[in-house]
Amino acid sequence: MANIIDGKKIATDIKDEAKASAEALKAKGVEPCLAVVLVGDDPASAVYVRNKKKACEYCGIKSLSYELPASTSESELLTLIDELNANKEVNGILVQLPLPKTIDENKVLLRILPEKDVDGFHPYNVGLLSIGKAVLKSCTPAGCIELIKRSGVDIEGKNCVVIGRSNIVGKPVGMLLLAENGTVTTCHSRTKNLKEICAEADILVAAIGKPGFVTGDMVKEGAVVIDVGINRGADGKLCGDVDFASASEKAGYITPVPGGVGPMTIAMLMKNCIKACEAQNSEALNA
Ligand code: NAD
Repeated sequence: MANIIDGKKIATDIKDEAKASAEALKAKGVEPCLAVVLVGDDPASAVYVRNKKKACEYCGIKSLSYELPASTSESELLTLIDELNANKEVNGILVQLPLPKTIDENKVLLRILPEKDVDGFHPYNVGLLSIGKAVLKSCTPAGCIELIKRSGVDIEGKNCVVIGRSNIVGKPVGMLLLAENGTVTTCHSRTKNLKEICAEADILVAAIGKPGFVTGDMVKEGAVVIDVGINRGADGKLCGDVDFASASEKAGYITPVPGGVGPMTIAMLMKNCIKACEAQNSEALNA
């Protein structure tokens, strides 16, 4: 039976580290600050935003909240981003996705200054990630790496297989594993012999969006299995992309859903706020 990686505990440790960093910054007269922008009234987005604000409070990071009606135009939102970009008090800008269909998401994300892009979605930050020089790494992928490393697993030289090639999870996870000197294979919907490839993985990351897709026969004995999926099963319950019951019979380490990757995203967001604040105030802090 696999060791279960406790994402809640690891996320709390990371938030505690962010809290200590926030205190150290405040002792030097610098207060980290995140601006959170929500457009429209999507209930799931409202919950995410509330959780992000709660995490800021926990960590001692100031949060500024902008809750705009669904009728907000693209130019109004871009004007707000420009104001937040120019506001020296604001270190990080988070625009909760998805945006209403009348607004071009890409245009909005491109408008955020890369040094304030705490989601790590700006192409500039994605580029830095691909050359192994990112400061602001996208939160869920960076969270996956933390879960592996903080479980005491060394990624170097390991055969790493990522299922999924999305811009927000699969691709950046692959790049981060490569940066840790893993040997990385990225699989996707057109991959042939997927089962065989997965069964060779020392580290297997599933980011597919299909409940229970990865079954025990796809898992190598003793492998580390990271389940990024968040799905609703046929019973309406939250479940991952990995069939936990069969995969945990084979894996050495495995993340549960919920309580695995999920809590890491916000914890890594808090880390990014601190990093952004430190980078923006490096002169004052090193004086
Ligand atoms: P996506 O739909 O953008 O990408 C899914 C990927 O899976 C694609 O690259 C596709 O090629 C691959 N895929 C689909 N069917 C496949 C198959 N039969 N065989 C092999 N590969 C296949 O999804 P995403 O945004 O990357 O999200 C993936 C999952 O992660 C979803 O369940 C999502 O809810 C979850 N997610 C969780 C968090 C978190 O905080 N834990 C964050 C983001 C996404």
